[in-house]
Order: sequence, then structure tokens, then C-alpha cells
Amino acid sequence: MHRAIDEGWISGTGPQVILLEQAVGQHFTRHATACANGTLALEAVLRTLNVGAGDTVLCPALTFVSPAAAIRAVGATVRFVDIDPVSWTIDPYALPQDMLARAIIAVDLLGHPCDYDSLLERKLPETIIIEDAAEAHGAQYKGVECGSFGFAATFSLYPNKAVTAGEGGLILTNWRWAQERIQLQVHHGMKAERPYYHEIIGSNYRMSNLNAALALAQVERWDELVAARRQIATWYHEELPEEFIRRPVASWATEGTWLVAVSHADRDALLPHIRASGVDARALWPIIPSNPPYRDGRDYPVAERVSREAFLLPTFGTMTRDDVRHISTILAQALMKVTT
Ligand SMILES: *Cc1c(COP(=O)(O)O)cnc(C)c1O
Repeated sequence: MHRAIDEGWISGTGPQVILLEQAVGQHFTRHATACANGTLALEAVLRTLNVGAGDTVLCPALTFVSPAAAIRAVGATVRFVDIDPVSWTIDPYALPQDMLARAIIAVDLLGHPCDYDSLLERKLPETIIIEDAAEAHGAQYKGVECGSFGFAATFSLYPNKAVTAGEGGLILTNWRWAQERIQLQVHHGMKAERPYYHEIIGSNYRMSNLNAALALAQVERWDELVAARRQIATWYHEELPEEFIRRPVASWATEGTWLVAVSHADRDALLPHIRASGVDARALWPIIPSNPPYRDGRDYPVAERVSREAFLLPTFGTMTRDDVRHISTILAQALMKVTT
């Protein structure tokens, strides 16, 4: 951080950006590109694949909105897919069979990986998988860390994510050629060695050198930050009354922790009591196709049920067991108010 300022290099592809990309690349044994945020990371990947008007891209009906917004931003059509009741991620058995999708944005929702083997088996050969791992630092699919899957995987460095930098995004891919094309997209369609020559249209999705310095300090503590969140989830599972059902975990998955999510059939009655006691618990997102720009007249029964019953509990790296105990007590009290 001090170095970023001392170097007098606070914009453009600064040295800290390159160091960050090297550190993240090493962690995943993939090629990494830093960019402005997790939403533009997805957009850059779609543009790199030349996804645009006339193309359809699949994404889960239940997620934070970024994947759907990125699909629409590049001019493509979004087709939503229901989620699996255990993994809460895109259901490979619900992929539409009536059309050819150019890509799937597979979101590792709330710290749980997608079922990548089944997705590979069920998708059409032409459909490219993109992994949105923004909520799944440290989660594993059959022993392999989230961020390792698909043509490309993306992360967000938004403040509420497990690894943060105020704002920021990361894009990972296995191939040098793909990384080069992603970097063209992120840096105005030009390469550092040939300024003002534009191979493609590109745009400016860059991360600043200052943000990269913040991100690098966090990435160096990746495992520690992941472990701290995991500990908080464990405390919650030990302290919460059993009426609050924890997020299910598939047999092939190792959970990561973003925000701890639990469900209760009476969520909407409970939340006002919990919030009135000063605990910032929040209902999970409504399904994306319930929002005006994304309405499609289809039903997503599993996504709708999870969206109706699940809520997010305060989760941040510096929480103590006493914080978790206090919140759990308030949840227990809310339960008494609602059920008596
Ligand atoms: C947070 C998040 C993003 C990206 O967020 P930015 O705020 O744009 O960095 C993308 N996808 C999912 C699933 C997210 O939760």
C-alpha cells in the first residue's frame, strides 16, 4: 500500500497489479487477470468468448444479480435455470434441452460448489462453463478449490467477500492465450508492448495499482481469511437453535463460508424481531426472474422456496464466539416470540 503510493503509480497497469496477478495465479496454478470488480470480470469473460446479441447464456435463477446483469450487458439473452435442493446451485438436470446455450455461468452459491461433473455430462458439448466463485473462497468440489473450474473462473473483492480490496475482481483461466485475450478486453484492446494499437475493441475494466496493493495484502492471507470465516460458520452451527436449518451440503462438497445462511419456514415472521434486536440478518435475494427486467413467466420452484425461507447472518472475519453467541440468543428469542 505504502509502496503503491511511493511508486507514484496509482493508475494504469501498475507493478502491484502484476504482483497480484502472479500471487493469485500461483495460488490456483492458473493465469490470473485483475480487474475493476466481479461483475465486470464476468462481462470481460463473456466478451472474450464473443458472446453477444443472438446468444443465450444460462445462469441460476437464485444468485446475486451479477451473472444475469453481465449476460444482458453484452447483449445476450439470459435463460434462468432452477437450482438443486441440496447444493442450492444450478441444477444440471434442469438445463434446458430445447436450445443451444453458448455458455453457463455456474455460481458457487453461498460457499457451495456447483456439481461440475454433472454439468459437464449434461450440457451440450458447445456450451462453455464459466465459474462465478465470488461467494466460495476455500470451498472445494471433490477436493479441488473453487476458482479452478470452467473456461474461466471469477472472484469479487467487494468488502463483504472473504478476500477484499474495497472493489476489485479476478479472472482465472488455464490458458495463456485466454489470459492474453482477457487482458486485451480489460486494457482497451491493447498490449503494453504496443501502445495505441487496438487489436480488439476492448474497454477499461482495469484494477488500479492502489487497489491491487490492498488486494495483494489480502491474497497473501488467503488461507487464514478462509479459515477465520469457516470458524465463524462452525460457531454458528454449534450455537444456533436446531430449528434454524443450516444450508445443506452435498456429499461431494467441502463448504466454504461467505455469509452464513440458514432457513426457517417462518422466516418472514422471524426477521422483523431479529432485526429489531439490532442484528443485521437479511432475507436472501428474491429470485432474479422476479425483478422487472428479468421476468420470463417461468417457474423455479426450488429457487423460490429457498429464496423464501433462507436468510443471511452477520458474518465477518473479526467476529468472536461471543458475537455469535449473542446473535444466536437473539434468534432463539425471536423463535419464542413467533411460535408462542
Ligand atoms: C458479489 C458477487 C459478484 C460480483 O460483485 P462485484 O460487487 O461486482 O464485485 C458476482 N457474483 C456473485 C455471485 C456475487 O455474490
